[in-house]
Amino acid sequence: MKYYIGIDLGGTNIAAGLVGEDASLKNHLSIPTKSGRSACEIVRDMAGLARKAAALYGIDWKDIEAVGIGVPGTANRDTGMVEYANNLGFYKEPIVPMLEEELPGKPIRFDNDANAAAWGEYLAGSGKGSKSMLAVTLGTGIGGGIILDGKIFQGVNYAAGEFGHFVIDRNGLECNCGRKGCFEAYASATALIAQTKEAMKENPDSLLWELCGGDPGLVEGKTLFDGVRKQDKTAKRVLDRYIEYLSAGLVNLINIFQPELICIGGGISKAGDLLLKPLKEIVDREDYARTSRVRTRLAVAELDNDAGLIGAALLKE
Ligand SMILES: [Zn+2]
Repeated sequence: MKYYIGIDLGGTNIAAGLVGEDASLKNHLSIPTKSGRSACEIVRDMAGLARKAAALYGIDWKDIEAVGIGVPGTANRDTGMVEYANNLGFYKEPIVPMLEEELPGKPIRFDNDANAAAWGEYLAGSGKGSKSMLAVTLGTGIGGGIILDGKIFQGVNYAAGEFGHFVIDRNGLECNCGRKGCFEAYASATALIAQTKEAMKENPDSLLWELCGGDPGLVEGKTLFDGVRKQDKTAKRVLDRYIEYLSAGLVNLINIFQPELICIGGGISKAGDLLLKPLKEIVDREDYARTSRVRTRLAVAELDNDAGLIGAALLKE
């Protein structure tokens, strides 16, 4: 078995894990990023954690084939530079050359963290066995990854797959990217929570109030799904409308890419069939290729946070 190290550099934590060539994750270590520190200090921590992941599993460092990093920003794969990473305060930091100095002789690969996670799901999760897959992650915003013919599609600026920022309502809600009506302003977890709170204000007798202990500040994505399971009418209305937004974006993506699979991740995807079943109905009705024999599948991400480590470890040169 050949072994690789995956590193997931986040704004809150740095995670690392040893990954086998069969895309199995052997361990998962994590330390606080303490962002705001210099790239140099953070890189030194990443190198230390990488060596530790190998040692803890009893693998000699010289037997590690390569190290891969997923970064929360624009990863320029030509220069090995993080062009910009907001929550690390990084602007043009040459992460790869720096890590090469810390880990001499090891090939270092890197990509955006959303791409790394999509690649992990593609290799070892719900995308296993497919040739083309889109990953759509419903979180604070909407993250994305595009895999076509077995390769991550980067785009000319290494910034492809920003699914959160295509417009579904030209005169819609303002988005923090400067446009109006972006997909993520309607279909991210943040948007779902805002829609839930809005509906609660208008429906003081909704069960949702009880489910968040009377404090709208405690509403999570899960609160809404709990309400739907308990047959709350307000919750059901919010979900129906949310699914219309989400399906609008997904059908757009299907019409552009016709992938074999769309892998839906993020906390909200845990709602499983409550989300997937109505989504599939709309997609079945609206997909441009709806009369075709082969259809795009919708599936929930299977690997959670492990996807980022597995994908990073097994990034190609
Ligand atoms: Zn936007």
